[in-house]
Amino acid sequence: MTIRTVGHTFLALIILLLHASAVCAAEAVRVGVFSYQGAERAESDWASTFKHLRKTLPQYSFYAMPGDLKTLTDDVAANRLDFIITNPGHYVELEAEYGAARIATVEIQGGPVPSEAVGAVIFTRAARTDIASLHDLRGKRLAAVAAETFGFRQAWREMLKEGVDPFSNLAELSFTGFPVKRVVDAVRDGTSDAGVVRTCVLEEMVAKGLARADEFHVVAAHTIPGLGCQTSTRLYPDWPFVKLSHTSATLAKQVARALLSMPVEANRQDWTVPVDYHSVLDLYYDLQIGPYEILRQHSLANILWSYRYWLTLLALSLIWWIIHVLRVEHLIRKRTRELHEANQKARLRREELEHASRLSLVGEMAGSLAHEISQPLAAIANYARGCERRMQQGGDQAEILHGVRQIAAQAERGGEVVRNMRSFVRKRQPFLCRLDPDLLISDTLALFAPLAERRNVLIELEPHDSLPAVAADKLQLEEVLLNLLQNAADAIEGKPEGKISIRASSAGGVVEIGIADTGPGLDDEAMRRLFETFFTTKPQGLGLGLSLSRSIIESHGGRLWAENIPGGGALFRFTLPVAKG
Ligand code: ADP
Repeated sequence: MTIRTVGHTFLALIILLLHASAVCAAEAVRVGVFSYQGAERAESDWASTFKHLRKTLPQYSFYAMPGDLKTLTDDVAANRLDFIITNPGHYVELEAEYGAARIATVEIQGGPVPSEAVGAVIFTRAARTDIASLHDLRGKRLAAVAAETFGFRQAWREMLKEGVDPFSNLAELSFTGFPVKRVVDAVRDGTSDAGVVRTCVLEEMVAKGLARADEFHVVAAHTIPGLGCQTSTRLYPDWPFVKLSHTSATLAKQVARALLSMPVEANRQDWTVPVDYHSVLDLYYDLQIGPYEILRQHSLANILWSYRYWLTLLALSLIWWIIHVLRVEHLIRKRTRELHEANQKARLRREELEHASRLSLVGEMAGSLAHEISQPLAAIANYARGCERRMQQGGDQAEILHGVRQIAAQAERGGEVVRNMRSFVRKRQPFLCRLDPDLLISDTLALFAPLAERRNVLIELEPHDSLPAVAADKLQLEEVLLNLLQNAADAIEGKPEGKISIRASSAGGVVEIGIADTGPGLDDEAMRRLFETFFTTKPQGLGLGLSLSRSIIESHGGRLWAENIPGGGALFRFTLPVAKG
């Protein structure tokens, strides 16, 4: 509670006590009166009304309680008043907030109609020809009594209609406070370019000699019929006599009846049935104030402003998310490229290793190769000499022809051996086709035969059921089998009883081929590192054969592994998927 409110309440209490002693039987009725020109003036303005009420309803003691808008609103909120006489703007606010209800509207006999009696003027000094319309107020200085006065709000509405918002489009908006004369003085001495007062204030000042008739110019002026005052705004209903929510219906009815029967006195003032105050509500709606303040709070701009921190956070998160997505995409693309390059490198390296391995095998087989080729060469030489002898002795044509055919056949056999070796050594891409596992085994054994013969190795092919075809690159699988046979041959080297067995079987959609030997088998380290590239226990070994063989088998969708045979020796087994269709 402010000091002013305390003072006001205290004053009301004193008045009540004084009157209570004088008219102790009479019930007190407190009537708030909005005083915009001081308490005395408020009393005198409504003197005839109070005189009439006291006279008509002597059972009540009517007390005029003057106050400004805030004090009166506080009194209403605290139920300290029974009635209130106030301006139309204040009334609609009390109605919306506290359930106040009008019971009569003041009327001036011979004046304007009560539904259109109140307006405001926006005025300048008469010399200011530059402010001819409300639009011209843009960028100027404007003075008014206070932001919450009804007069200012009326002017605000009209200015907004002309595109000038007094709170943002003026060079200065100043509020002088009461009395109204301060606004007139501000315009008069040039502190402000224009001023806002209620209608008839200027005319009253001229009548009292406080202003010259030609001193001021009313902007966007029109005249109220019946009143003779100028106005810059549209007109609103006159002041109402208002009952408050807690006031008894009986009392309100008695007061209303008294007001409507009030005789017109010298001030031409009396009361009529309450008029419609919707035009005032429209004003509040347009300005989004009072009961419509909520609209202002719920405008898009306001909502955005009140959630600005969350919205900023949201925007930052969105930006962060976009950057994150772009970064992840970039990383994925980079990683895919790197993987692709790594794959390419690995493929090239594997091909290099395969090539090196083939060369190593070829080196191993070089001796037997020489033997293999020297046999047809020796046979060719023999047949050639035989033919020569027969031709010198005039021998049989048929025998000579047989010798020549043998020469050609032996030359072709030598050429075949060389071709096989060259195609084995050449690097190439894997080429899958349907392959009979038995053909693979027999062709590999044919290739391995010269080496086996030279090293006196016994190879046994165990009997087995017929095998389904596999999808495989024949040359690559020959290479695998040759590697395994070569290793097995190395393992039994120097063992007179040494033997290599080949077994083949098919089950569960795969064909399995095994190479067993009667060598020393695999120790722990060999078992662990067997398939590592460059792992070897041989003085001339490269340590490539098994790692390459495994990569070839796996690239065919199969598996290659090794195990020791309980009775001694090693067994290398690999599987190949059966060809579809
Ligand atoms: P390399 O034959 O050039 O050594 P491999 O990769 O073919 O290369 O073989 C690697 C090693 O595995 C051999 O050095 C040997 O120690 C071992 N190994 C391979 N096969 C057998 C086998 N049948 N019996 C015993 N050890 C073997």
